[in-house]
Amino acid sequence: EQAWLADAQTFIQETLCPTGKEPNNELTQLVIDCVKMMWLSQGENQGFTLPLSYRFVSVQNLKTHQNLPCCSHLTWSSTAYQAWVQGAGPNGNALPREQLLLLGTLTDLSGDLEHERPDGSLYVKDNTGILGCELIDLDLSWLGHLFLFPSWSYLPPAKWKSLEEGHLELWGAPVPVFPLTTNPEPLAPIPVLYPEKALYLLTHRMRRQVQEANLAGKLIRLSALIKSQKKEYFVLTLGELSPTDSQALNQVSIMVQIPAQMVWYRVFWPGRSYVLTRLRIAKTRRHHYHIWTTIPSSNLMLLKPDCVRELELELELLKDKPKPPSVPTKSQNSKGQADLVRHSRVLHYSGMVTGVLNESASLYLLDGQLILCLAYQQIRGLKRMIRPGVSLELRDVHLLHSVGGGTTRPVLVPCLHGTVQLRSFSHQKPEILSSHQVHGTYLYEQLVWDYQLGLPTYLWATKALEKLVCKLCPHVLRCHQLLKHSSPGNPSLALQLLASSPDVLTPPDSPIRNAHSEILEEPHQCIFQEYTQLQTPYTFPDLLTMMKEGQHSAWANFDPKALVPLPESAYLTSYQINRRLAWSWHCVLPSTLQPAQVLVGVLVASSHKGCLQLRDLSASMPCLLLAENSQPLADPRFIGCLVRTERFQLVVEREVESNFPSWKELTMAGFIQRQQTRVYVQFFLTDALILPVPRPSPDASTTSAPPQTDSACLEGQSRLFLLSHKEALMNRNFCVSGRASSESPMPTLSFHVSGSWLGGTQRKEGTGWGPPEPLGSEKKDQKVFLIFLGSSVRWFAFLYPGKVYRLIAPGPPTSTLFEGESSSQRPLELAGCVSCLTVQDDWTLELGRSQDTPDVLEISRELPKSSLTHLLSDKFPDSLVSFSAKILSRTICDPPLTFRRRQPGNTGTVKTCVKLTVALEIADYEFTPHLNIYIEDPHLPPPIGLLPGSQVHFSQLEKKISRSSNVYCRFCSSTSIQVLSFSQQTRVSDPLPHIYLAELLQKGQAPFQATTSCHVVFIFSLQIMWVCAHCTSLCPQGRCSRQDLTCPTQTAISQASIRFLVEDGTAEALVTCRNHHVAAALGLSPGEWTFLLDCVRVSGKLALHFKGPGAESESPARIHEPLTLFLQTLCTSPSVLRPIKLAFELTRRPSDVSPREPPRLQQFQCGDLPLLTRVNPRLQLACLSLQEQEHSSTLGAFATSC
Ligand SMILES: [Zn+2]
Ligand SMILES: [Zn+2]
Repeated sequence: EQAWLADAQTFIQETLCPTGKEPNNELTQLVIDCVKMMWLSQGENQGFTLPLSYRFVSVQNLKTHQNLPCCSHLTWSSTAYQAWVQGAGPNGNALPREQLLLLGTLTDLSGDLEHERPDGSLYVKDNTGILGCELIDLDLSWLGHLFLFPSWSYLPPAKWKSLEEGHLELWGAPVPVFPLTTNPEPLAPIPVLYPEKALYLLTHRMRRQVQEANLAGKLIRLSALIKSQKKEYFVLTLGELSPTDSQALNQVSIMVQIPAQMVWYRVFWPGRSYVLTRLRIAKTRRHHYHIWTTIPSSNLMLLKPDCVRELELELELLKDKPKPPSVPTKSQNSKGQADLVRHSRVLHYSGMVTGVLNESASLYLLDGQLILCLAYQQIRGLKRMIRPGVSLELRDVHLLHSVGGGTTRPVLVPCLHGTVQLRSFSHQKPEILSSHQVHGTYLYEQLVWDYQLGLPTYLWATKALEKLVCKLCPHVLRCHQLLKHSSPGNPSLALQLLASSPDVLTPPDSPIRNAHSEILEEPHQCIFQEYTQLQTPYTFPDLLTMMKEGQHSAWANFDPKALVPLPESAYLTSYQINRRLAWSWHCVLPSTLQPAQVLVGVLVASSHKGCLQLRDLSASMPCLLLAENSQPLADPRFIGCLVRTERFQLVVEREVESNFPSWKELTMAGFIQRQQTRVYVQFFLTDALILPVPRPSPDASTTSAPPQTDSACLEGQSRLFLLSHKEALMNRNFCVSGRASSESPMPTLSFHVSGSWLGGTQRKEGTGWGPPEPLGSEKKDQKVFLIFLGSSVRWFAFLYPGKVYRLIAPGPPTSTLFEGESSSQRPLELAGCVSCLTVQDDWTLELGRSQDTPDVLEISRELPKSSLTHLLSDKFPDSLVSFSAKILSRTICDPPLTFRRRQPGNTGTVKTCVKLTVALEIADYEFTPHLNIYIEDPHLPPPIGLLPGSQVHFSQLEKKISRSSNVYCRFCSSTSIQVLSFSQQTRVSDPLPHIYLAELLQKGQAPFQATTSCHVVFIFSLQIMWVCAHCTSLCPQGRCSRQDLTCPTQTAISQASIRFLVEDGTAEALVTCRNHHVAAALGLSPGEWTFLLDCVRVSGKLALHFKGPGAESESPARIHEPLTLFLQTLCTSPSVLRPIKLAFELTRRPSDVSPREPPRLQQFQCGDLPLLTRVNPRLQLACLSLQEQEHSSTLGAFATSC
């Protein structure tokens, strides 16, 4: 006990006695008496007269040693504490109890001379320091006195706010050490004005009549405490003490703006009555409101009826009552929006905070169901106390329902007109908040105060920013980097990602808040009164979600019947149908979704796959980027940048393995055996916002993003080269020199480029490059062959022919670094190349700038193109060709050189191959020739972007000639592609050109597909068959005739073909029509055609051959069958031999129509007239569609050609 007293004495002398004075024993005794009294008032003191287990704590000790939140309750028994812990709730985390005695002076002066202007904050002060505190019900007479605080909690600053200080929450009334001198009762009653008269003086501008007045009334409203840079103020409104009906509207507002009076704000309690003395009428500067204001000598006191008397005024006009403020009729500015406009309700609400939604955005959950948004008041001081368990009283706050933008709960939001007051402190420890909840306070304040966001937009913006944080932090960049607020010249990263322009957030006509009018205007006007439900502008889904939704949408839109439509599908075998379904694609335009989606990610170059990827924390998505139309993205500086775009195509390639037996089962999903997708995104750089990520962000480099060209690297050398060709990225067997060669070489993902050096090696000089080393004359224009393997594969996506690059090697300069390896190692690869280099992992690439490129060299930036004659002639097989083309179709097929016929029923082991049909793009060429390109293993799957409709430059394809002497191309190891433009969604199919047949004979100028008006001259043959859809064997009576094993399904399909001769007077052509086109060729209606097919079904096959114009048919014995007879008659009748409009494609390429036969004379019968005309050799055409001629104009064609 003695020791405790001695310690207490020392403590009191050190921390509480006025400094520089004699030890004050009287003070010490008073303090100890005070502690003893409080201690003994507690029942559970176990006979001790002193709280021996408690020790004194100074403010400084609390600040430096108390790193955990705690509380101390001198007067509480442990059962009281236990009950209190229970009060924290079932899963509440109550503050731990410490046994500490805290004494100090309560003051509203921070003691900091520079910031001496009091702003209403409260502090506890002793000799060692000062600490902010909060108190629920302040008495002004307490200020400046020394107190024992029997019950308090201390909250140290949160870790992320290490610069801030902790604060004290003072429970209950403090116990004065010295007895407080109660204010002496005023000698005479104070003359006061009640609101009715005060209002009258105000409205009639009777300033001169009353210079100063004392106002009394009941507090009915308190505004927010406004803190601007210039001053602080708040407005309180007094009403009649016990208003009668006629006086209910008598309210008078008083503005308090003297700094020393800011602490009054803590005293006011709605419902209590006050007297404010020495008020004057003043005019607000900007808005010319007349308002009662305080002066420095004004006083505030509780109203005691005995101490006041009503001031008598000689006012005769008092009968003239102020009119009740008329409610202005709301002007609906646009009728269309009228029903969307909602009105908020203004109400009072008391409740407990049950959750923190976003501390930095000042969003809380109230009573588990309401969102409380405190962002529209400046409540920094109050905010530090708000945590689950705090009770708040909200007065004059707005309640908004269905604000939209993804917020479903009702929202309570106080504007500056209303007030938020603390009614009890929380028992709980602060929650541990995730990083996005604690960073960005300034950013959110900026959104509210600078950008003037309305509440629905603000709530959406906070959600969107949280989503962005989840997508990008912490691996791409730190949360505080993302949520940094804007400063001049340094726009906030988060805001740039959030909105492409500020107008998205704040429409130009949105109202601007004004604190004065928000508080004072009668009737109340603020931005929360009217609001429209927000349509979510867009969302920022993470990449994984985006890919999954894309896949989902692709399969939801997968319709086999649309991919293989009728009537064509009715004639296809099971194998053909399943091949047609094997590959298809689906494109999602997220800007068309509701809400729209915005793509945000970091651009990385994968060193495992050699492709570009967009990455966030959820996934990596391959992407295809074009700088602009037909310009590839060649600048590696974009690696590591943040990309945001609203315009992009999400491509989903679908691959399906199916075993549909025939077209009839296409609606049944059970025949799909396996399905997989490849998802990627393609967009233009010009449509995207590219933001460099602030560095350093150490995690970015570990996620296979290549190290950025480090300008800080002091030493290094570089050399420029012009890329002439890039080869395919594929697994190659490599004997890597310098690595362990004992192991058999493993296939390594790699590629080569060839090009030529431009000048000599340059050394690093400061931040730039020195002059190139001089070269010997024999070394001028030397070729270089660069090998990229290992992690340098990441450069693949940036290297394009025709571009100049700078190859940079870090480290001390070595003279022969770029000279290449000795040529003996790679005799094959070195053909024509002086140096052959393996690009090291730590080397980097930059796009050469224009000033780097020597003027002497005329650099061809054109993409290489093979000449058309070389391309299309049936000579020069196995040569390499390059061209640009538009992809018309992409299908899965058998490889072109599969001589072996597919074994019937054997579908498993067939090698697949991707066939692209392309239209060559050749300038000054009227009709674009078509070509097939085959992609086989090991070039499968094909590079991304090879979609129907896109334009692609193919470089160094292998040219082949088919057995039918058609030209086609194959991917080989030297092939590379460059996508020039993306496939357009709106597919406009050009109408086919309408030509004369003779135009097809003009070499090199003929269209591949066209329409013509011609006359059917003669039918050569007609064949109708019923075959097994599975094995294509003949099916008489609908049963598969195959002997060895029974087919799994017994579906018979019909197949038909007809061959006939047409001419249009300029030339004649042999046309083959298949399947449903046969019905059109014979001029049969669908019903007649079905009947005909059914007639053939019994025998399974019908074949008719005709010999020469007008000759007899030579079909076998059943010639006299009625069906055969009918068809014979039909095929020679004018209903078949008639003028038609034919859409066709050439079955042989134009260049293959050689050697050219000379035209020959031939006689025609045109009605009754015999005609003689010069006729060119026969063309071979395949029918695409056949229509009746609208009006017979063939005679005119005959006449002109005769
Ligand atoms: Zn309001
Ligand atoms: Zn069969």
